[in-house]
Amino acid sequence: FLNGKRALVTGSTSGIGLAMARALRAEGAEVVLNGFGDEREIAALREELGALHVNADLTTRAGCEELMAGAGAVDILVNNAGMQHVSPIEDFPVEKWDSIVALNLTAAFHTTRLAVPHMKQRGWGRIINTASAHSKVASPFKSAYNAAKHGLDGLTKTVALEVAPHGITANCISPGYVWTPLVENQIPDTMEARGLTRKEVINDVLLVKQATKKFVQPTEVAAVAVFLCRDEAQNVTGANWSVDGGWTTE
Ligand code: NAD
Repeated sequence: FLNGKRALVTGSTSGIGLAMARALRAEGAEVVLNGFGDEREIAALREELGALHVNADLTTRAGCEELMAGAGAVDILVNNAGMQHVSPIEDFPVEKWDSIVALNLTAAFHTTRLAVPHMKQRGWGRIINTASAHSKVASPFKSAYNAAKHGLDGLTKTVALEVAPHGITANCISPGYVWTPLVENQIPDTMEARGLTRKEVINDVLLVKQATKKFVQPTEVAAVAVFLCRDEAQNVTGANWSVDGGWTTE
């Protein structure tokens, strides 16, 4: 049902973004990939998805503008690229704060402002932002990430109100813990910050609030993104849809 639509998914060389790119492609969308990674693996993904890949660093305004110029006019914009750093606030590396806020929040501002004119012209558009359970609730040692994701929720709601008359929706999808490199990579720092073993981090920190006691799968997040692109979802806008095993119900 997405034939003739072009979807840009930021941070789509790995994890959730890759699952979203695959799911949108499976529905017929033309996909534009973005993100870092091994050159050969990216070439294989391009071939698999018949996709363009724009290699831009979205922590900078110039990178965001380069991405949007390279991607062309997009009908579906998925702001998904993100990164994490785990540290107590008093030791939080200042440059990590800057880059996390730049990637997880400011990049979505730049891509959205550049994507909206075409969507308005076409009278149809979908803006889907991968937020997080941490856009709704906090947990310690993730000050930059939690601040950026809460901000992304605010940006999404604002954009939703502005673009609603033009057939465009803007929503967040907020996963709990999804088993991807982003989660795997934070285990050592969390072990150190909290003085726990790997097993304790998984059971007592990561999954402690997910009532299902299961990691979310990237394909489950992608399925929500596909739904949001359907015409039946035209009145779903400004929402922040949890896929978190019940984490944020408390
Ligand atoms: P991931 O690390 O597997 O993928 C991140 C993607 O972003 C990769 O393609 C990477 O190359 C790209 N990226 C990183 N820095 C970039 C930059 N400067 N410019 C452009 N691209 C860049 O992570 P993931 O778990 O799939 O996370 C995707 C999104 O989902 C993120 O926004 C993350 O915050 C969010 N999220 C993840 C989880 C989880 O548990 N994994 C939970 C909630 C929200």
